[in-house]
Amino acid sequence: MEAHVEKILEVEGLKKYFPAGRGQVVKAVDDVTFHVYKGETLGLVGESGCGKSTIGRTIIRLYNATGGTVKFKGKNVHELKGKEAKQFNREMQMIFQDPYASLNPRMTVADIIAEGLDIHGLAKGKERRERVVELLRTVGLNEEHADRFPHEFSGGQRQRIGIARALAVDPDFIIADEPISALDVSIQAQVVNLMKKLQREKGLTYLFIAHDLSMVKYISDRVGVMYLGNLVELAESQELYDNPLHPYTEALLSAVPIPDPAVEKRRERILLKGDVPSPINPPSGCRFRTRCPKAMDICAEVTPTWQEVRPLHWVACHLYQEESKNEVAASSEQTS
Ligand code: SF4
Repeated sequence: MEAHVEKILEVEGLKKYFPAGRGQVVKAVDDVTFHVYKGETLGLVGESGCGKSTIGRTIIRLYNATGGTVKFKGKNVHELKGKEAKQFNREMQMIFQDPYASLNPRMTVADIIAEGLDIHGLAKGKERRERVVELLRTVGLNEEHADRFPHEFSGGQRQRIGIARALAVDPDFIIADEPISALDVSIQAQVVNLMKKLQREKGLTYLFIAHDLSMVKYISDRVGVMYLGNLVELAESQELYDNPLHPYTEALLSAVPIPDPAVEKRRERILLKGDVPSPINPPSGCRFRTRCPKAMDICAEVTPTWQEVRPLHWVACHLYQEESKNEVAASSEQTS
């Protein structure tokens, strides 16, 4: 990956808890730290319920943060007011998983796409129409689609409309929340290729949230892996797929099909035992310990810290922490 210098988004110790009745809380996101470089795609993967979508929604201010900070271009997004908040609402856009549910069925495509132009007073009359047509062409649709309604389109076309709507206000940063999960496999690659093309042409930065690891690798410069509200590993895509360090990442990758049947046959699948525990009462220490094939005593007592163990390769696991290794060595000496 080319050297990135400018951090456009900095997430530091982010927490998002939801009340769950009887004084309990769901710790959907718990102490997550990462940053996104300008112009890159950062993929965020994990099973459903791991908190990845909640992170996206907290970054774009659909939710307030329970703790920690989110800085966009150096400013705390949860403290923005007035003009600065309005500008943020323009600069950061979101593409949703279900393009049908996120498009108002009673509005024409032209009005859906132009909604942002209207809110921000960016174009009126003839100019507005021209901008809509230009956006439709940008996403591979055309002018005749402008006056139709969402139900007249296929899933892939609707996601293209969702992308056009996001692009209308000329954003810098797009959070794509499972943008291809609801689409047929044959259409998924088309939408991802469109997103890659738009990124090159417009210098966009993406946070790409998904559970499909193969597609995430294809689009992302770096990939972060989440488990039960925590970020457990983050590295450049190729590095993460070639040298996964965290046992959870290893297990996830072992389930990704390899196109070469000979390699696929030799490969060992890592089957995780048990279910994902409840985020209301997560395990002590490392949250993955109840399912981890490599768990040690220390994993139940101490929460592993988030550390850069190789250049640009971050992981939270006692297997890679010097102080943990020393402790484990000392306790095994005592028992021998
Ligand atoms: Fe497994 Fe322990 Fe690492 Fe957690 S900290 S992933 S339980 S080895």
